[in-house]
Amino acid sequence: MLSNNILKCRFKYILVGYYRKYSFSIPEGKTYINGKWVAAKNEKTFPVFNPANGNTIANIPDCGIVETNEAVEAACIALKTWKDVTAKERAAFLRRMFELQMKSSETLAHIITSEGGKPLAESAGEINYGASFFEWFSEEARRIYGDIVPSPFKNKQMLFVREPVGVAGIITPWNFPNAMITRKVAAALAAGCTCVIKPAEDTPLSALAIAQLADEAKVPPGVINVVTSSRSNTPSIGKRLCENPNVATISFTGSTSVGKLLLKHSASTVKKVSLELGGNAPFIVFNSANISKAVAGAMVSKFRNSGQTCVCTNKILVQEGIYEEFIAELAKAMQIQLKVGEGIQPGVTVGPLINESAVKKVERHVQDAVGKGAELVLGGKVHSQGKNFFEPTLLRNLKKNMLICGEETFGPVAAVMKFSSEVEAMELANASRSGLAGYFYSEDISQIWRVSKNLEGEKDLAMVLMNTHTLSIFVLGDWNEFLKSIPVHWASILYWRMAFEINFHKFYVECS
Ligand code: ADP
Repeated sequence: MLSNNILKCRFKYILVGYYRKYSFSIPEGKTYINGKWVAAKNEKTFPVFNPANGNTIANIPDCGIVETNEAVEAACIALKTWKDVTAKERAAFLRRMFELQMKSSETLAHIITSEGGKPLAESAGEINYGASFFEWFSEEARRIYGDIVPSPFKNKQMLFVREPVGVAGIITPWNFPNAMITRKVAAALAAGCTCVIKPAEDTPLSALAIAQLADEAKVPPGVINVVTSSRSNTPSIGKRLCENPNVATISFTGSTSVGKLLLKHSASTVKKVSLELGGNAPFIVFNSANISKAVAGAMVSKFRNSGQTCVCTNKILVQEGIYEEFIAELAKAMQIQLKVGEGIQPGVTVGPLINESAVKKVERHVQDAVGKGAELVLGGKVHSQGKNFFEPTLLRNLKKNMLICGEETFGPVAAVMKFSSEVEAMELANASRSGLAGYFYSEDISQIWRVSKNLEGEKDLAMVLMNTHTLSIFVLGDWNEFLKSIPVHWASILYWRMAFEINFHKFYVECS
């Protein structure tokens, strides 16, 4: 435990020399329920580690069923008034959250890097991205329109009015510990819902920091509640949220296996469930592609957050005419651009993986591939920097029977497979049920339209990126300057086939 009961001191200690304007505090050993900072009823805590050096950053309440029930009850009570707060007022709360997040952006970024290991520049990007949800939903909060539909009856009018569904159970992952929460919470609050957040056990401090922002923004007690817990208490909390009849909807981002489990639990109360699950993104480079742009794209989409985002490239498919050239260019770029180290250090682009089991999975995937005939061009083992670091790795001769082809690797491993025809590339890319995102590079306009339509990940593919690499952007300052700074291609088209966070409203039909 820390000598002082305010985490502020611990962060001051961590941040000393990096950030002296620090002015943010989260009470140590407490979580945020019903507008109050509270300990777990049994006073139990669990440690949060810095994955870069294994140091304990803080001890956080290890909540269970009791605290979950308490948080749901608080959210239920708050719902009674929050749902009737005017759209204009809700918009103002969200706008305040946006402004407060931007004001504390440096501190919040340091929290992400401390508990999640992300390079600081990427953490800063996440804070901007996370804030953009408060901004967006502060605007959307005022546009919750209904419909008037022609009635089949002469003496009745049909009005469709949007109402909040109720309390939202929000379960989030560690790889975007701020933005995955703000995306869900901002949408829920805008719709008039209240919420109970269960953050990932590796990164609860970012969630508590958001609660602190809500407190500062004077969001009414019970509207936002956080239930922190260790991994061992997590399943019972998840089950409770799904089975509690007072929770109206579950919004989850995380692994497919946990998503399926939550869906199953939610059946008992017939809940609305929004799931954003694992990906297995193909990155296809056709003969006609501009190779240097494709390499630049692969670098970003593969190595961002050390390969730990659900839209990260998982398998790189390269057409035979440019296969050798692409691999040589990618190897060069990896050697020049990637710098492994603690995320807090300037210039670091590849931080640690989140924990040892993540490293073990990456190791298993690389060993499986090499064992089945893949060639190691670069890297391939745990990095000398420490047990949670993995060397940026380049593999060639990837084959369909290798684990990397079927499972999400979630690490800094670029695995390249050769294909000969567009038909073959489509078969390889679409041979996965987890089609969250897909990328391709081509300069052939007919091919661009064909592939954008056919790339589908067994109909689940949500987002297709053509000649570009980044889905989630938030621009501060001059948009034109921003556009000049990224390699925008004339044929860069972004398709969003799926809208997240759609379950916070229900329709009422009123007849008169
Ligand atoms: P990962 O393997 O990347 O950590 P998970 O799906 O396990 O992905 O974790 C995402 C979120 O789901 C985290 O908040 C985690 O605590 C939570 N979680 C993990 N297992 C369960 C479970 N059985 N029930 C509810 N939530 C869970």
